[in-house]
Amino acid sequence: MQVKRALLKLSGEALAGPNGSGLHGETLTAIAADIAAANRAGFEVAIVVGGGNFFRGVQGLSRGLTRNAGDSIGMLGTVMNALALEHAIEAAGVPARAMSAIAMPALCESYARRRAIDHLGNGKVVVLGGGTGNPWFTTDTGAALRAAELECDVLLKGTNVDGVYDSDPRANPHAIRFDRLTHAEAIARDLKVMDTAAFALARDSGLSILVFSLHTPGAICAALRGEGAFTLVA
Ligand code: UDP
Repeated sequence: MQVKRALLKLSGEALAGPNGSGLHGETLTAIAADIAAANRAGFEVAIVVGGGNFFRGVQGLSRGLTRNAGDSIGMLGTVMNALALEHAIEAAGVPARAMSAIAMPALCESYARRRAIDHLGNGKVVVLGGGTGNPWFTTDTGAALRAAELECDVLLKGTNVDGVYDSDPRANPHAIRFDRLTHAEAIARDLKVMDTAAFALARDSGLSILVFSLHTPGAICAALRGEGAFTLVA
């Protein structure tokens, strides 16, 4: 698979590092350095960030909020992460542009497909906050949506483990990693690595998903080159 333009999905958890919530400076810097290296290597990288390190919509239910209210708060969390990542990537020496699916012009640009494509073509990393801009969705689905819209060659899903296993590799030392799965298999197995809506959208738009571990320096560049350990859903 020859990759020129990629959509990288980073969960909020990936930015929380050992803290488990909020933002962890060293982790943010390390991920930004990896993204900057990918940009310098000539890849066009758009990023969709999650917000679980701040808030997930369903958490609101236990606090007397409706799902709609909780999801609004969750989407705001993703914009906070997008702003943090934009800053960290620029600090790593590469131009970046945060764009939000929900207009907040005092903080960042509003997402518009053609403008995002222009930024990518001009050598900027684009960091997309706000998910799909709608409640009842996740940023995984937002990532599949933006990858399809921006005509990305692949969706890179960075996680804590180096692919998709037949059981939890942290609990079962004999767990086997899949090298390759179809979208239909991923949906049928109800894999937790991404939600069904995201897999279905990827399937319908002919988008491949590469699941890899973010935990080695240079992991993002390696994944873009198809090197290292990963599972490909195609
Ligand atoms: N969210 C939403 N619509 C979207 C994307 C996200 O309402 O299109 C909200 C939802 O409440 C979600 C939260 O934002 O729980 C954070 O996103 P997500 O859980 O996908 O983040 P991650 O698990 O990747 O950190």
